[in-house]
Amino acid sequence: MKLETIIGLEIHAQLSTKSKLFCSCDNDAFGADPNTRVCPVCMGFPGMLPVLNAEALKKGVIGAAALGCKIQHFSKFDRKNYFYPDLPNGFQISQFDQPIALKGKVEIEVDGKKKVIGITRVHLENDAGKLTHEKTGTLCDYNRSGTPLIEIVTEPDMRSPQEARVFAQEIQKILRFVGASDADMEKGMMRFDASISLRKVGDEKLNPRAEIKNLNSFTSLFKALVHEEKRQTKLWEKGTPPEKETTLGWLDDEGKTQLLRDKESANDYRYFPEPDLPPVTFTLQEIKEIEKTIPELPLEKYHRYRKEFGLSDNNALKLSESLGLSQFFEAVSEQSNLPHKAAHMILSVILAHTDWEQAPITPKHVADVLDLVETGKVSATGGKQILEEMMRTGLDAQELLEGLGLKQVSDTKEIERWIREVLEDNPKIVAEFKSGKEKVLGFLVGQVMKKSGGSANPSMVQEMMKSKLSSNS
Ligand code: ZN
Ligand code: MN
Repeated sequence: MKLETIIGLEIHAQLSTKSKLFCSCDNDAFGADPNTRVCPVCMGFPGMLPVLNAEALKKGVIGAAALGCKIQHFSKFDRKNYFYPDLPNGFQISQFDQPIALKGKVEIEVDGKKKVIGITRVHLENDAGKLTHEKTGTLCDYNRSGTPLIEIVTEPDMRSPQEARVFAQEIQKILRFVGASDADMEKGMMRFDASISLRKVGDEKLNPRAEIKNLNSFTSLFKALVHEEKRQTKLWEKGTPPEKETTLGWLDDEGKTQLLRDKESANDYRYFPEPDLPPVTFTLQEIKEIEKTIPELPLEKYHRYRKEFGLSDNNALKLSESLGLSQFFEAVSEQSNLPHKAAHMILSVILAHTDWEQAPITPKHVADVLDLVETGKVSATGGKQILEEMMRTGLDAQELLEGLGLKQVSDTKEIERWIREVLEDNPKIVAEFKSGKEKVLGFLVGQVMKKSGGSANPSMVQEMMKSKLSSNS
């Protein structure tokens, strides 16, 4: 029996707004003392009235548009009722039947193969607080309560844990590119619920799925899916495939899943329209304006860098990873007209500094260095040295060229003088060369470089030395 794996994801990403979704509390509570970023609204006090944060709505629809979704002319908020101590209202304000966006698609590339993953919907909702379970009791911190989230729901289009991981990483890149979310996994800004089931190859119908909740890194997403895929395969092989939907937790330390509960259905939440918030509407014109702001996305850049600039897969991938880096690279390429060398210089020197974005350098700085190397005024190594210095000081290429004494001598007269001296000093070696031992050329060139204190242009020395030796035989 041949089985195939069916995976769908729900991704929660925190929108990078100043304030929370329905109140003016600070949305950046990372590292803050517990319960210091709260107010009656996000604490769910009786009579509280939510007001929709316009920035959160804007970032939500921009994120959705970047995922190829259709922004809806009309959407509304609904109460999703359940009781849990981290949810002071007793309900979450979410969107049920009319979310802000529907029907998107995201392209990924796995092992060199393109694949499109469907997005079912994107909706806005607020986050819950955070519970810390101690021996003596449970601590509640409501700083995160009311943080704006977008929830992205995919179609069950992924066929392996590897595809799910690549897709999740692509979503992170896209949300960062359009500034919708910082999607910092370490700060819990992006979390995954992964649904997985198996079926016989050729079957159309989907079988009951297991949903693994709250995976908070790409690694745990991947590992949990691999584990669950194996577990379900064994059940199928025993002739007892899962018969009902279940909700699982992932125990990272033990590397296994754990049954939390049978899966709840929408009925259990008793959704009803949120009476305190008006519906959200967009005109066709407004939707067009939003769609216009979506920049070229990471995967499109990746393909273009390979095609247009002939970059390697690896270099193209690295340079298209973030908007800031890709813009920097494109500006250097344009100003220097040397995209290949620009890519190499940026990856080998600039990205070696993790805080490069704070360094006082501009694309023009890098283009100037590339020009110095290209015209032979400085060696490639010297160019790298200048760039390093620039990142520290912000000085320009010409100043550093002189200041560091890296000026490469391309003056033929000077080089000719050094060559003459070296030939006079080494008559034996010269004789060896003339008797056919051409290997000694390297030694002679080395002597000239030494004489010049490393400043001579090595390819010029090589060429001139060769013609000198063959001419005065
Ligand atoms: Zn608040
Ligand atoms: Mn949700």
